[in-house]
Amino acid sequence: MRWQLPVNQGRSFEKGTQVVPRALVTGGAGFIGSHVADRFLAGGYEVDVIDNLSSGRRENVPGAATFYELDVGSPEAADIVRRGSFDVIVHLAAQMDVRKSVADPAYDAKVNILGTLNLLEAARKEAPRCRIVFTSTGGAVYGTFANPPTVETHSKEPESPYAVSKLSAEYYLAYYFQLYGLESAVLRFGNVYGPRQDPHGEAGVVSIFCNRLLDGRALTVFGDGLQTRDYIHVADVIEAAWLAATRTLPDDSGLDARAFNIGTAIGTSVLDLASQLQRAAGTNVPIEFAPKRPGEQQESFIAIGKASQVLGWVPRIDLAEGLANTYKWFAARRLTEATGRS
Ligand code: NAD
Repeated sequence: MRWQLPVNQGRSFEKGTQVVPRALVTGGAGFIGSHVADRFLAGGYEVDVIDNLSSGRRENVPGAATFYELDVGSPEAADIVRRGSFDVIVHLAAQMDVRKSVADPAYDAKVNILGTLNLLEAARKEAPRCRIVFTSTGGAVYGTFANPPTVETHSKEPESPYAVSKLSAEYYLAYYFQLYGLESAVLRFGNVYGPRQDPHGEAGVVSIFCNRLLDGRALTVFGDGLQTRDYIHVADVIEAAWLAATRTLPDDSGLDARAFNIGTAIGTSVLDLASQLQRAAGTNVPIEFAPKRPGEQQESFIAIGKASQVLGWVPRIDLAEGLANTYKWFAARRLTEATGRS
């Protein structure tokens, strides 16, 4: 861990005659954050990562990044923002378990609202030229009244403390832009899946099904399995984060002005997902049905025209290809773990 950062008044460090842009990735030991850190390193950035490893893994953090094991709400994290001369902060660190948010809404708010405010206060005071890219959720902020595909300006009906805390953070970002000119973009993700995914996330079903298929165990489907979600591959998501960090953004203010849905605009049912994964795995296991979970949305998929028009972003990986690539990753990890143990 490196605690003392060089004090730098400029926006980026100069290495010889070359200016090297700098990015801070919070939650960079997690599923999406570690891919984001990889993308910025590949794009020529120096990357710092803050993560408290509550759900992330140290081995996910790319070796070329500087890692700080810290809570986003801590004074040390604020200090890193103040002194880091970042061009961009991609803020992914979050409590993102909906059930946990219901059980302990205060903890959820502490991480997702107060943690975000800690970074925003530090940025507006001493890094006002830094852009914040915030990761929100297109699955939860719109609620069940949404008539999919849902556009960014749709009314917000958050139905869990997690959705409330994400939406609150979005309101703070809009406020900081309006009052202080602190630039930000909000990405409202669909259900992100792909390599390094853990079962607890919003698209956790993909990782759960991959592990079940590898174990040769039945896939559990809640309700009738016809509920739809918008599954988006992590490679497409990180490209959206890159574009949100580097493209010119609209000058308008307000909650939805610089918010972008990042999905496919296609609703896929859980049953369809299960059969596509069985095909990818080349194996058939039984499907068992369990009672519908209370409060679960029936249909959820998001319109993506705005990200395409403003950021020039389009999803490139179709579901069959993405699931095949994800299953292969889980199978390879199994093999490595088994070899490591033997
Ligand atoms: P993840 O759990 O893999 O990553 C979150 C990371 O944040 C973890 O590494 C965790 O250790 C870290 N973290 C948690 N609390 C922290 C704290 N207080 N201080 C520092 N670090 C902390 O989850 P993910 O799927 O990669 O999600 C990343 C972001 O994307 C989250 O903000 C989430 O809300 C958002 N998102 C994810 C999805 C999805 O489908 N995975 C969908 C919508 C939005």
